Amino acid sequence: MSEILKEILSKIPEGKISDAGFEGANIVLYTKDKDFFFDNKGIIKEIVNSIKKRIELRPDPAIVLELEKSEKMIKKIIPKEAGMSDVIFDPQRSRVVVHAEKPGLVIGKQGEILREIREKTLWVPIIKRTPPLRCKLIEGIRSVLYENSDYRRKFLNKTGHRIYDGWIRGKKNEWVRLSYLGGGRQVGRSCILLQTPESRVLLDCGINIANDSEAYPFLEAPEFKIEELDAVIISHAHLGHSGFLPYLYKFGYRGPVYCTAPTRDIMSLLHLDLVKIMRNEGKDPIYTSDEIKEMVKHTICLGYEEVTDITPDVRITLYNAGHMLGSSLVHIHVGNGLHNMVYTADLKYGKTMLLEPAETKFPRLETLMIESTYGARDNVMPPAKEQDELLKEIITNTLKRGGKVLMPTLGSGRAQEVMILIEALVQEGKIDTIPVYVDGMVWDITAIHTAYPEFLNRNIRKQIFHKDNNPFLSPIFKEVGSAKERKQIIESGGPCVVIATSGMLVGGPSVEYLKALHGDKKNSLVFSCYQAEGSLGHRIRRGDREIVMSHDPSGRPDVMKINMEVFKIEITGHSDRKELMNYVSRCNPRPKKVIINHGENSRCLDLASSIHRQFRIETQAPRNLESIRVK
Ligand SMILES: [Zn+2]
Repeated sequence: MSEILKEILSKIPEGKISDAGFEGANIVLYTKDKDFFFDNKGIIKEIVNSIKKRIELRPDPAIVLELEKSEKMIKKIIPKEAGMSDVIFDPQRSRVVVHAEKPGLVIGKQGEILREIREKTLWVPIIKRTPPLRCKLIEGIRSVLYENSDYRRKFLNKTGHRIYDGWIRGKKNEWVRLSYLGGGRQVGRSCILLQTPESRVLLDCGINIANDSEAYPFLEAPEFKIEELDAVIISHAHLGHSGFLPYLYKFGYRGPVYCTAPTRDIMSLLHLDLVKIMRNEGKDPIYTSDEIKEMVKHTICLGYEEVTDITPDVRITLYNAGHMLGSSLVHIHVGNGLHNMVYTADLKYGKTMLLEPAETKFPRLETLMIESTYGARDNVMPPAKEQDELLKEIITNTLKRGGKVLMPTLGSGRAQEVMILIEALVQEGKIDTIPVYVDGMVWDITAIHTAYPEFLNRNIRKQIFHKDNNPFLSPIFKEVGSAKERKQIIESGGPCVVIATSGMLVGGPSVEYLKALHGDKKNSLVFSCYQAEGSLGHRIRRGDREIVMSHDPSGRPDVMKINMEVFKIEITGHSDRKELMNYVSRCNPRPKKVIINHGENSRCLDLASSIHRQFRIETQAPRNLESIRVK
């Protein structure tokens, strides 16, 4: 038994605890003593205070009420209005998961209903939200987790042993080192290896979808050995940050992935979509749904501001990054106060339709690793309000002349922002009630948004929780689920707005719509996200109007002539130059060193020199395969 468990048990009266183990960094104790379960007289709290680790006391599976009776009892206790859909028991862990549309009503005032369930059945209730828009993917993920609950229990216990059983590599001089395997002076394939004497942790594991020759991170770097990897942290779901993760499982990694629950769900969806796109393009997918499932089995979800040990000397906390649903800044505490870092990944330091601005306050901070997608002096975005007006104008004009508006977007983030914006315009009577077609994956990701409203900003939460008015459920939004429906919209439908992936016109339905809509002057194409060099979107946006799509067998080019009007609206989930500088200046405490990444070469360097000059902070902009010793 682990030393830490021995220590805990020595502080509890003999015979009270029947079993003890780990669930990741959480320590779980089981008791057969009913009275001790309901009232341990503050003993557990005292231990938590002294060892500073999370401990949960659960009833031993031997003493809980039998399944059938418990289910009946739970259904009787929970009010009808809660919209309960499922009750799933996890008998080995004495837990019962209740799915309901209104979790608040299952919890009750100050948790009174939960308490009643515990008292009458002894099961420990966990409440999960049933999304109001049905989402097959969330259901799929939940069933993978339930089907593998036995494996999962063992995996979490093993993870706990890795964290608590002390140092396997031996305590040496303390140091902290970062190696850029991807995302150094470029946008895409973010992947950084964090090493300490004890730990090997990856921060993100992305791909670069716009550039085949630089698609994957440098896992062949001498520092990286997959068999030594302790943990992976995924900042957010975009493929540039998560797209290579299932590949690690293909090559035998079986350790944990840490991220928020929306990140887990959205990235699984994006990975499945990537496999589909590769197959459609006649390529061999780099992984399959088996590896994506394996990834889900090993994912440990964290809420914002939940402090968690992930190895003996690394402790992380995720904070809101304001960039997309579930996106996180990763605060990393190394050793016992040795060094504190924040890895921002992609961040938005400004309020958006969906999210609160990125967090700036941290308990401690010495090194800040910040993105620079829009890091150059001239990357200043016009005010969001202006852009909202512009979008309104584009939509109104296009609809008036009987055209269609095509908006290629990333599946997540911008698409939902645009939906909220259009919904508000319709609500306020500023544009006619027109159908807004939300294609395939954008629809699924919207459904995931409805499952995690607690990650959205105050305004939307208020609308959803207090006014029961969820903008995502507006009838103007219509799901497009098949190629046949897509064809109907293109051929017969009148004026409308189409929101579809991919955002850079690299595969996905947006390209299908473009092929059908590009020739008609009445239609409009609106770019609303970053267009990476090499992508079709980038070429059209910079002004190319005759694009060779392919060659026929005789070598004759098939040219697409773009006649539709092309616009760009500059609203982004990234911070612009001003916001990045503001962010650095508002970071509290102020970092002693700033490392700039995730930006084109010149933008990284420009931001680095400006931060250095303006704030007198040491800066560095590493290239891929460079390492930095931060302590
Ligand atoms: Zn992103």
